[in-house]
Amino acid sequence: MTLDQGEPAGPASRTTANGFGQLTAVASDFEALFDAVEDEWQDRALCAQTDPEAFFPEKGGSTREAKRICSGCEVKADCLEYALHNDERFGIWGGMSERERRRLKRGII
Ligand code: SF4
Repeated sequence: MTLDQGEPAGPASRTTANGFGQLTAVASDFEALFDAVEDEWQDRALCAQTDPEAFFPEKGGSTREAKRICSGCEVKADCLEYALHNDERFGIWGGMSERERRRLKRGII
């Protein structure tokens, strides 16, 4: 198979006179890709099968149960990365509390 068969596939095939159409198409492709990646790890979140309140305890409440669940979650790293990237302020994400995530961001942990 050669690369020059027919129309090129992907964003490069969507050029317009001013080029903005192509940029819009590329942005749309990236959005779809990010959505797919997000959906992928969130679909496998162990907490989705449990009591969500355990992950958002009252101030001073126990985080033990949520962290126990997180420790067995296959998407723990994705979850923590998402929380850090999106600056999630509340709840247990990736097995870490708000305070622990703040400390991690500051390089204390
Ligand atoms: S690591 Fe914890 S909070 Fe994150 S998806 Fe898994 S169970 Fe849920």
